[in-house]
Amino acid sequence: MNTEAEIREIFSHMRGLLTSYQEMGMDPPPVSSDTLGVSRRPEPKPVRRPAAPRVEEMKDRAVVPDRAALIEALRDRIGDCRRCKLSKGRTHLVFGEGSPEARLVFVGEGPGHDEDRVGRPFVGESGKLLTKIIENGMGLTRKDVYICNVVKCHPPGNRDPEGDEIEACLPFLREQLRIIAPEVICTLGRVAAQALLEKDFRITEQRGQWRSYRGIPLMPTFHPAYLLHNPGAKREVWEDVKQIMARLGLEVKSHG
Ligand code: SF4
Repeated sequence: MNTEAEIREIFSHMRGLLTSYQEMGMDPPPVSSDTLGVSRRPEPKPVRRPAAPRVEEMKDRAVVPDRAALIEALRDRIGDCRRCKLSKGRTHLVFGEGSPEARLVFVGEGPGHDEDRVGRPFVGESGKLLTKIIENGMGLTRKDVYICNVVKCHPPGNRDPEGDEIEACLPFLREQLRIIAPEVICTLGRVAAQALLEKDFRITEQRGQWRSYRGIPLMPTFHPAYLLHNPGAKREVWEDVKQIMARLGLEVKSHG
């Protein structure tokens, strides 16, 4: 084949290719000297793409902690708990309530008579005072925080929960705190501080000082029930609450 015939054949081939690309709705590749087979440059190296993520990695990335579901599952797991003797006298198991996404968790010692009756934490007289601190003092609502206790069942006669009862129930509180992972924990009273810190914690001397529970800042303060009998201590609790608000970046609006 002479040169003129070769060129005619190449152009006819290219016209055919062009028609095929148009039929498929695709743009034809740019024509270069390579297309015509005039030059023979070395083949470009293939571009290395990052490896596709493994299935396990994709699963990790997709997992957004569904704290509400985890809290619900924990409540289901506790069920009609009979792990300690407090189960015998209870009316309701008082698991806790509030936002599973809460930045702040209040921990009391155990449900009182009113709480046992309705199955919700801090609804009696001391609960009203706690609500006042949350709403009037902090400018939040109970739904913004999470409220629970060390033991979930009412100790008879409002006595302090005993060591074996705390030991039996404490894993549930630890799991609640692990799931919620708040920015601040506020323990209310001696029993809660001793359960999460150390057994010889002295509330009157050591309240108001930041501590740490598994890396989470913890502020120990008085129990609202104590304030009902010692209203003068409200000022100290307000100082502790202000420290919590500062840690959470909340504006101090009024005193609780
Ligand atoms: S206090 Fe806790 S451990 Fe004891 S029965 Fe109630 S839920 Fe179970």
